[in-house]
Amino acid sequence: MASLGTAVVIGASMGGLLAARALSEAYEKVVIVDRDTLPDLAAARRGVPQGRQLHVLLSQGRKALEELFPGLTGELQRAGAPLVDLHHDVNWHNDGYLMRGAPSPLLALGLSRPLLEHGVRQRVTALPGVEIRHQTEVLGLTTSPDRRRVTGVRLSGETIEADLVVDAGGRACRSPVWLDELGYDRPAEEQVRVGVTYVTRTYRRHPGLIGDRSGAITNAMPGSPRAGIVAVMEDGRLAVALSGMLGEQPPTDDAGMAEFAGTLPLPELAEVVGTAEPASDAVLMRFPTSVRRRYERLRRFPDGYLVVADGLCSFNPIYGQGITVAALEALLLRQLITTGTTDRLARRFFRGAARLIDAPWSIAVGTDLRFAEVEGRRGLKVRFVNAYVHRLHMAATADAVLGAAFLRVLNLVDPPTALLAPGIALRVLRGFFHRPVPTPPAAIVPDPVAPRLP
Ligand SMILES: Cc1cc2nc3c(=O)[nH]c(=O)nc-3n(C[C@H](O)[C@H](O)[C@H](O)COP(=O)(O)OP(=O)(O)OC[C@H]3O[C@@H](n4cnc5c(N)ncnc54)[C@H](O)[C@@H]3O)c2cc1C
Repeated sequence: MASLGTAVVIGASMGGLLAARALSEAYEKVVIVDRDTLPDLAAARRGVPQGRQLHVLLSQGRKALEELFPGLTGELQRAGAPLVDLHHDVNWHNDGYLMRGAPSPLLALGLSRPLLEHGVRQRVTALPGVEIRHQTEVLGLTTSPDRRRVTGVRLSGETIEADLVVDAGGRACRSPVWLDELGYDRPAEEQVRVGVTYVTRTYRRHPGLIGDRSGAITNAMPGSPRAGIVAVMEDGRLAVALSGMLGEQPPTDDAGMAEFAGTLPLPELAEVVGTAEPASDAVLMRFPTSVRRRYERLRRFPDGYLVVADGLCSFNPIYGQGITVAALEALLLRQLITTGTTDRLARRFFRGAARLIDAPWSIAVGTDLRFAEVEGRRGLKVRFVNAYVHRLHMAATADAVLGAAFLRVLNLVDPPTALLAPGIALRVLRGFFHRPVPTPPAAIVPDPVAPRLP
């Protein structure tokens, strides 16, 4: 295939690395520019503060990464990250109801965000024609005299010419401002205020801790805007994340964390926080608002320019979708640049990306709208689906088919409409008369680990 020339990617985080991987198939040269110092090892860094928070890589995300980097799963496993069957190895206490487990093909990796980014960065660095320049900030764009085409990026005292520039600068990327300066409209922005606060800490796993489980999770519910997750990671450590919505803030001190964990219907979490030795400090981060930018609705957009990943959509992190969507966007980009023409690439990419984003955005926003304090339109559909999914969680305590269907949607394998398929609806209806007992808050459970359902 003929080379498309040079591409510049702004940002060497997950979105930028994955876009660069896609571009390397059609562009002779791909230059990734990041203002941060990129570590040689798997370490957190300043430019990606969320890297210190627990990250979940959804099953569909792991598959997409594997498609972009064959063998990556095995490499990360060899680096110590366990492969986890999300339905069989994890205790899901959805709305307080413990889901019945079963073996599944939903495989995820238990690993820290720095290890994932490091593994991907190593693979991208090894690609022919790809160069990563760190400690280099992009200050603006260069364009053709009529400003119809972006021709490169402006650095301090230097420019890099490019046939395509991809902005993967994250949620706070400068694209809306740069477009404005060039005389284009800014994209319309949808915002959903969720007021999430995360606290992540890692612990050493002592024998017997959380039994044979690889993780456990409980979600926030109306009236109880607290959630928690414990997950295996490399080096045999366990990562714990406590989160609060709508201004609810988990503490970062030992006693406060134990008290917070005790209020959740998640005995595994209370056991870890209450008995295990911490392996790190507790780190707090706030995420005020989910943001979706509607580039696909712009009537004018310069040629030779794209925006990807969090710059397009920054999801409520509780649903763990960001990296998976970035990987699906990279696959879309690869398909567009390797088949056919690059004419109207931006229009075709933004339209395709919007279709990819629709489902995860509707899952995240639709679920957040369960909380009366979250502003947004609650159509009949949203209210019906939320009530229906609550009933599904109740029925899933006894029916593993329902748990599997829910997890396939959560992991972006199936569209949300799959939960309304007649076979699933019938099972939810059948479970209507089944009255499961919800998991009580851990502080009032005598045995710290909930038994696994057979
Ligand atoms: C608390 C929290 C928890 C999360 N948990 C999960 C999870 O469990 N699972 C999941 O899939 N996702 C999660 N996410 C989202 C995930 O972190 C992002 O989707 C992912 O990092 C992709 O983002 P990105 O590459 O677009 O931007 P970022 O990761 O924000 O990176 C942007 C990069 O661009 C660089 N940059 C920016 N501007 C410039 C410039 N002008 N010049 C040069 N360099 C520049 C920055 O230095 C940085 O390296 C979470 C997010 C948060 C906030």
